[in-house]
Amino acid sequence: MRQYKNLCGFNKLVGFFFFVIIIISISGCSLGDAFVNVFDDDNNSDFGEGYSYIGTSFNYGDGQLPTKFLQNNIFLNNSVEISDTINISNDVNLVDYFFYFNAFSNEDPQYKEKKYYNSTLILPAEDIDYTYEEQYPTVSIDSSGTDFFHVNTYEFPNHRSNYFFNSVSQASNVVCVEGDYIFCSNIYGLGGFSDRAKIVSPNRANKYNFPIIATVLTPTPLGDRDIIGLARNGVPLAQRLPNTKEDYHDLKSRLDEYYGYPADSGYFYFAEPTYFTGYEDASYFFGYDYTYFQDEVDSSKSVSRSDLIGIALDGFPIYGPIEYGIQEKVPYDLDTCRGHVGPTGDKFSNTYHYHIKPVEYIEDGDENFFIECFSGTLVD
Ligand SMILES: [Zn+2]
Repeated sequence: MRQYKNLCGFNKLVGFFFFVIIIISISGCSLGDAFVNVFDDDNNSDFGEGYSYIGTSFNYGDGQLPTKFLQNNIFLNNSVEISDTINISNDVNLVDYFFYFNAFSNEDPQYKEKKYYNSTLILPAEDIDYTYEEQYPTVSIDSSGTDFFHVNTYEFPNHRSNYFFNSVSQASNVVCVEGDYIFCSNIYGLGGFSDRAKIVSPNRANKYNFPIIATVLTPTPLGDRDIIGLARNGVPLAQRLPNTKEDYHDLKSRLDEYYGYPADSGYFYFAEPTYFTGYEDASYFFGYDYTYFQDEVDSSKSVSRSDLIGIALDGFPIYGPIEYGIQEKVPYDLDTCRGHVGPTGDKFSNTYHYHIKPVEYIEDGDENFFIECFSGTLVD
C-alpha cells in the first residue's frame, strides 16, 4: 500500500493559514490534495490488516418486502430509450477513419494484429447519418423464496455505448462486396468499434440470486466466478467474459467509456462503471461523450465517486471508490474484501458495504477489479 500524505507538503504549515492559501494558489494544488490520500494500486492485500466486520448483517426483509426496498433503493425503475446519432461528413478528416467491416474478415491476419482499417470499404464523403435507437428494459425482482431473492435482468445498459453503432446497417449508397457488414471506426469516441462486437439483448432475462439476509462471515474468494454482482441497471459486474475468459487487461483497449463491453448477449462492466460514479478518464478515453446517471427521484442530484453502483452476489451493496462525505479519499478501514461499515448518504448508512477499486489504480497483474472477495455467503 502506498500512502501519499500531504501531497503538496503543507503539513508543517498549518499554523500559517494565510501563507498556505498563498502557496495553494501559486501551486495549483487543491485543498483536497492536502488531506491524506490512500491509494489501492497493487494486488489483493492493500487493506484489511486489523479490520474485521464479522457478524454485521443487513436484512432486506426487515419490516418490508425485499422487492419494494430493492426497487426503491438499488435497482432502476424506469425503462428508457437510448439513442445516438453521428454524421461523419461534418468533418471530412474523419471520413478516412470510418468504414464497413466484412463480417468474414475475422480470419484476416490484419484483424488479429488489430489493424482493422480496410481502405476498400471507406465510406463515401456524403451526408449520411448513422443512428441507433434501443430500449432499456428494467430488471424484475422476485422474492418469493424465504432465504433469497432473485433479480431477472436482460443485462442491457440504460445508457449509450458506441457498441450499439456496430449494429447499424450499411448506408444504401455504400457498395459492399458480400456478407454482413458492420459499421466501425478506428478512433475512440466516434462511431462503433473495429473489433465488430455489438450489444445484443438476450431473448430472455438471466436470473441472479442474492440472500435476503446478508451477513459478514469468513471471506470467500471470488475464485473462477466470472460475475461478482449486478450494477443498478442490471448490467453484470464481470471479472472476465464467460466464454473467452478475457478480463479487464485483455479488453482494456476495447472497453467503451463506461468500461463496458458486449458479452455474447447483453453487456458487462469490467471495472468501475463510470456511468454511476461520474469518473472521466480524459487521457485514455479522449473524445468520448460521457453521460452520467440521473437520479430517478432527484434529477438535480449529480453523480459522485462515492455513489451506490450495485450489489454483490453475497447481498452487500457496492459503492464507488471514494468514501461518502470526504472529498477524494478512499476509506482507510476496509477489510480484506474491500468492505467496511460507515456512512453512505443513503439507506445503507452504517451498514456493511464495499468500495470498488479506483479504475485509475488498477495495475498490470491485478486480478480483482471490483471487490477482493465475498464477505458474505452466496445463495448457490
Ligand atoms: Zn463506505
